[in-house]
Amino acid sequence: MAKIVAKKSLGQNFLQDTSVIENIVMQSGVNKDTDVLEIGPGLGAVTDLLVERARKVVAVEIDDRLYHNLVKKHGDRDNFSILNQDILETDLSKIVTDNMIVVANLPYYITTPIITMLVENPCGLKSLTVMVQLEVAKRICADHTQKDYGAISVFSNYHCDTELLFTVPPEAFDPVPKVTSAVMKLTFRKEKAVSPRDEKHFFSVVKAAFSNRRKTLANCLMQNFKLGREEVNALLSSCGLSETVRGEKLSLEEFRTLSDKMLSCKK
Ligand code: SAM
Repeated sequence: MAKIVAKKSLGQNFLQDTSVIENIVMQSGVNKDTDVLEIGPGLGAVTDLLVERARKVVAVEIDDRLYHNLVKKHGDRDNFSILNQDILETDLSKIVTDNMIVVANLPYYITTPIITMLVENPCGLKSLTVMVQLEVAKRICADHTQKDYGAISVFSNYHCDTELLFTVPPEAFDPVPKVTSAVMKLTFRKEKAVSPRDEKHFFSVVKAAFSNRRKTLANCLMQNFKLGREEVNALLSSCGLSETVRGEKLSLEEFRTLSDKMLSCKK
């Protein structure tokens, strides 16, 4: 078969480094009792190990050249199946089984939409062990003491226990990307990290708090919720927060308190 040329437009950077591949699969915790959803199997560098170690592997690949290549390679295995489609158009509820994890070297041009979709609606998935750009991994795994903390950190840590596992240099891929990568693991929590009275309101407060990093939390709240200065200062004081605090300093628990107090004040 002729060499498959990587398509930049589909985020195709194929993993070459066998120690990185082994490390991803090992850290995912896959074993003979686990099913795996692999997003973007590409040439099958990770898939080859997964089919040896997992109970079952379901791969979703958008590129039909790569799809046909993998059907040829692993199509006769009982524990392997592959769908030739866009992961963002895939109905996960038809794929996810009782003990399924995601293992993937994600296409970077759609990392955030994929993670958001999986975290918001996991359909019973247990964890995601995924390679992403280092910058994205830092933002997703950050807490309020770190500079990369933002709305996506709150969102991810609300639903999952997050862990940045290790970084991967550009030379581990072909073609070589411009950025450094990292593997992170998101394990779905049995219970959310905090329990706000109204989840939708909680996330609207978080979104408002990070809407302008140059502004104080008070100013962001005034602007986004059409509140007066005195009202906001009283609210912050009732939460034990300073009038000059910035949104990026609040822990998930502090956001929960703020969100709940705002709802109480509305009454
Ligand atoms: N897993 C392979 C590896 O590690 O060498 C390939 C990883 S490459 C970074 C990303 C893969 O995702 C490519 O195979 C690409 O074709 C596939 N892909 C891109 N967009 C996709 C989408 N929307 N749905 C499913 N697969 C997609």
